[in-house]
Amino acid sequence: MIATIIGLFGGLIGSFLNVVIYRVPRGMSVVNPPSACPGCGTPIAKRDNVPVLSWLLLGGRCRTCRTAISARYPLVELGTGLFFAAVALRFLPELLTTDGAAELVAGLLSLVAFLALAGSSVALALIDIDVKRLPNAIVLPLLLVGAVLLSASSIVVGDGAALLRAGIGLLALGGVYFALAVAVPGGMGMGDVKLAAVLGLFLAWLGWAPFAVGAIAAFLLGGLFGVVLLLTRRAKRGTNVPFGPWMLLGAWIGVFAGAPVAAAYLSLLGLGA
Ligand SMILES: [Zn+2]
Repeated sequence: MIATIIGLFGGLIGSFLNVVIYRVPRGMSVVNPPSACPGCGTPIAKRDNVPVLSWLLLGGRCRTCRTAISARYPLVELGTGLFFAAVALRFLPELLTTDGAAELVAGLLSLVAFLALAGSSVALALIDIDVKRLPNAIVLPLLLVGAVLLSASSIVVGDGAALLRAGIGLLALGGVYFALAVAVPGGMGMGDVKLAAVLGLFLAWLGWAPFAVGAIAAFLLGGLFGVVLLLTRRAKRGTNVPFGPWMLLGAWIGVFAGAPVAAAYLSLLGLGA
């Protein structure tokens, strides 16, 4: 029930992310002017701005001039809604079974932090695919929001270990990407370095297993994709393939499956408990 409400809220956020994805790389304001049809410039009415449904009811066309509206808009709304519901299902069970007020507050703070990461992930992945950049205007506020909410969450319940892990994770993953960016010119950009620091913070705050799985999955997926591109001759060596989407996808694998994947790997090595 709560996950459904958070999912519907995610659909509304997705509608806003469509604006962010188009305007932020162009240095435009995300609030002014209000959204308008790209064909005729007619401002989009409230009733035509309901996530997914409006697009379906209007047959994917502007009400006024019938210009086709890309299916990407409703897909971002639907995807963000499902993503938010999944994040809710990941964090709610623990949150709803705590019995202290402090634990409840801490759980809510961390849920909001990871929803902020989810929304930012959708925007950053698509912007990186579109224009091969990870704008500071999204990455830096996300760093601030994550640091404040997760620190507050840890402080409320006196979990100094999580706070320390988050700090180490930020420096460690940011440091690895910084070293890569310096060692291989034209590979990673500074946008990747800053995003790595943010993801290091979130993942290590959750635990070392999500951190390790998230960090390694990014390289495995990104590397595999690069090999496929080379084999299918869609890319030449040195082609600038955005790495941000792989960092984000890897991180979310860490968030959702970090603990079981790490446990399975350790038991494979005969190190598991
Ligand atoms: Zn129009």
